[in-house]
Amino acid sequence: MAWNYTYDQLLKKAYSSIPKTSKETSRFEVPTISGGFEGNRTHVSNLKQIASKLGRDINHLMKFLLKDLATTGEWKGNNFYFVGKFNSRMLNEKVAKYVKEFVTCNQCEKPDTEIHKEKGITFKQCQACGARSSTRSLK
Ligand SMILES: [Zn+2]
Repeated sequence: MAWNYTYDQLLKKAYSSIPKTSKETSRFEVPTISGGFEGNRTHVSNLKQIASKLGRDINHLMKFLLKDLATTGEWKGNNFYFVGKFNSRMLNEKVAKYVKEFVTCNQCEKPDTEIHKEKGITFKQCQACGARSSTRSLK
């Protein structure tokens, strides 16, 4: 069963996942996931692109997603297979949640942040406005 994307939408998604200079725009566009169901698993084909667009380590993103979806999964090439059925809306919501928590600045909402660890505390440091906020550390 495929998600209700038309070919044109998929094409648009493919283009929109090409990294662009988002630093100038005030409103950051959260990348959307591409994939579908396969049996009782859900595969997503662009998680690596999403992580690189967000400037985050793929392992960090995966830790978050697996924890938040309370499931497991495995890589097959560039596809990640989640155990269970998760529709696109649900997965996009998780990515949006990740972005809010770990990518965009709490003050200026720009995505130009870095994650730092100091004395066991994890911080999100904004390169645009200098704001710093503590964030949870994913185990
Ligand atoms: Zn900021």
